[in-house]
Amino acid sequence: GASNRPQAVTVLGATGSIGTSTLDVLARHPERYRVHALTAATRREALLDQCLRHRPRVAVLSHERDAVWLRGELRGAGLDTEVKSGETALVEVAEASDAEVVMAAIVGAAGLLPTLAAVRAGKRVLLANKEALVMSGALFMDAVDRHGAVLLPIDSEHNAIYQCLPPEHRGGLARVGVTQLLLTASGGPFLGWQAGDLAMVTPEQACAHPNWSMGRKISVDSATLMNKGLELIEACWLFDARPDQVKVVVHPQSVIHSMVAYSDGSVIAQLGNPDMRTPIAYGLAWPERIEAGVEVLDLFQVARLDFQAPDEEAFPCLRLAREAMDAGGAAPAVLNAANEVAVEAFLAGRLSFTGIAEVVEGVLDASPLQAATELEAILEEDRRARERAERYLERYR
Ligand code: NAD
Ligand code: MG
Repeated sequence: GASNRPQAVTVLGATGSIGTSTLDVLARHPERYRVHALTAATRREALLDQCLRHRPRVAVLSHERDAVWLRGELRGAGLDTEVKSGETALVEVAEASDAEVVMAAIVGAAGLLPTLAAVRAGKRVLLANKEALVMSGALFMDAVDRHGAVLLPIDSEHNAIYQCLPPEHRGGLARVGVTQLLLTASGGPFLGWQAGDLAMVTPEQACAHPNWSMGRKISVDSATLMNKGLELIEACWLFDARPDQVKVVVHPQSVIHSMVAYSDGSVIAQLGNPDMRTPIAYGLAWPERIEAGVEVLDLFQVARLDFQAPDEEAFPCLRLAREAMDAGGAAPAVLNAANEVAVEAFLAGRLSFTGIAEVVEGVLDASPLQAATELEAILEEDRRARERAERYLERYR
């Protein structure tokens, strides 16, 4: 609840799409929140601007040379922000006792260790970094329970499902009468395209999402439907659901963010404008509600809501993700690692759009099923899958 003292919030991945939206919401409520730490990989000018505006106690960049630069700029501006660099510093700020809330908004596997550190420190963790949970599902959820962390999903679909569930859902979906989670998908920029038309698609086309403005990696994932595949896995872990209890529904307007079906025939949905500040504000204030800067939904302007089944022929990544979740163990971590390498290669012009699914499938097929109970084993599988994906790319050219 709201106390007299503002809550300290750390934003991991502050310069990204989610990080920027988070700072927008925080700045609307200075009496409730103050920024403790901000982190970024390499965009030092953007982090400098954020430091000048939000005055964090700590800032972290990936490379020491950028940290030296930022330190100088901040001293010059009369700020005494402590500037650190490297992966260890990232883990340190994620678990530091100075912050009660951690927004996990780094993209990809790079976010796993700091996000897990925040969980193990028992924070309120706002989870945007879905890849971290996909990689380490069982271990991650076990750490949430063991360390009393409060895990709030920020991914809009999972945030919607969370809002449509009763508070007692942690005891299992069946006990609260839930029969199905209906995960909505926009379908991405290539909705309706046939497999044959997708081979020549460019990164610019793939990153032009019809409804959401997002980082480049998740934009490509949305275009291949791998994003929905990762979200299917994310939903299974967050809500203790079996893959067959999660149904993907293509809904091009992105107004219904997801739904929950109950045994009495009720379907409860969460609706809103496609703006990530809504789930971010929900996660920050839960169980209270705060203003997020998002306009109320104008249903007359929306006018209609459409639904259709996903085309898994043209977009095989959704099937690959479901198969990886069914296989269990480290398979989701392998899927994620191969996808990260393939997406990067696509963005660099080294791989075709349809090649992404081929690389992921090739790497999954070549990877013997491993257990994923220990963090070390997960990191090892992630590393091996990246090597396999690189080798696959060599052959592919
Ligand atoms: P983005 O690319 O815009 O931002 C990523 C942030 O992470 C940046 O601050 C970047 O500096 C930092 N970062 C990247 N690589 C790093 C590394 N190796 N070490 C340390 N920091 C690193 O991404 P985004 O769109 O904001 O997405 C962030 C996460 O949230 C992703 O996992 C994404 O799937 C998830 N998500 C995003 C949206 C959205 O609308 N953008 C919606 C749902 C979920
Ligand atoms: Mg989403």
